[in-house]
Amino acid sequence: MDATSTCPSYSARDYKSEVKPVWCPGCGDYSVLGALTKALAELSIPPENVALVSGIGCSSRLPAYTNVFGFHGVHGRALPIATGIKVSRPELTVIASGGDGDGFSIGGNHFMHACRRNVDMTYIVMDNEVYGMTKGQASPTTAPDWEKSKLTPQGTGINPFHPLVIALAAGANFIARGFSGDPNGAAQLITEAIRHPGFSFVQLLSPCVTFRPEQRDWKDAVHPAAVDPTDDPARAARRLMTDDGFNIGVLYRGSRKPFQPALKASVDSVADLEKEFVL
Ligand code: SF4
Ligand code: MG
Repeated sequence: MDATSTCPSYSARDYKSEVKPVWCPGCGDYSVLGALTKALAELSIPPENVALVSGIGCSSRLPAYTNVFGFHGVHGRALPIATGIKVSRPELTVIASGGDGDGFSIGGNHFMHACRRNVDMTYIVMDNEVYGMTKGQASPTTAPDWEKSKLTPQGTGINPFHPLVIALAAGANFIARGFSGDPNGAAQLITEAIRHPGFSFVQLLSPCVTFRPEQRDWKDAVHPAAVDPTDDPARAARRLMTDDGFNIGVLYRGSRKPFQPALKASVDSVADLEKEFVL
């Protein structure tokens, strides 16, 4: 674009599709959709330059409700798909999204390695501490004493997964927590996460009002984090290990160089292969 041309501007509506969300009334994921589209409008990224990838679950329906390129993958596999897109099309803004069951259970290994690789993309996890789509089972982030699931009527009795600490230990350089009930704050965090060069992880507390109705009270529990996100990792780890789970804001920011393989060699070899195949 030359200096005289006008930068196109977009509104959040430009990023929404015509598909009507089928989430339960009051589900936090509606606000996450609003926050994401607001962030993309703030950044004025043309919709055709965005790829949004998800796995499976209520929150993984997100790509269908947006007007960007979407890929509704399989359970837990959003991150490897998003990684492949970003390393082969580095000019795109790549976002992976999903829930705590999808991302931290079957997708847990991909999560750690995405943090470690530091490919320049954003991962948004709508965390409601439950498998909502399959009707209310304990997920990796469920507290051990939650007794409402028929599968674990006496609670799971096991420690929950702590995604932020694990992200830090695995090498993530942008770690944030937001709340769907604060859509402007969530939009701001997503904006910063997309701007951050390298892998950025945003945990969005997003109540499942159907299977965890008590999560409506999260609105009274969240509070802005009073922290220096540029702390050294050891101090940040202590902070994240001991926080109450309701600190919202950017909680850690580092400056590792993003991973981006040189593409020319691989493109040449694909071209050579194609030539060989045609001949
Ligand atoms: Fe949202 Fe829970 Fe309903 Fe799924 S089951 S749409 S997470 S409220
Ligand atoms: Mg969930």
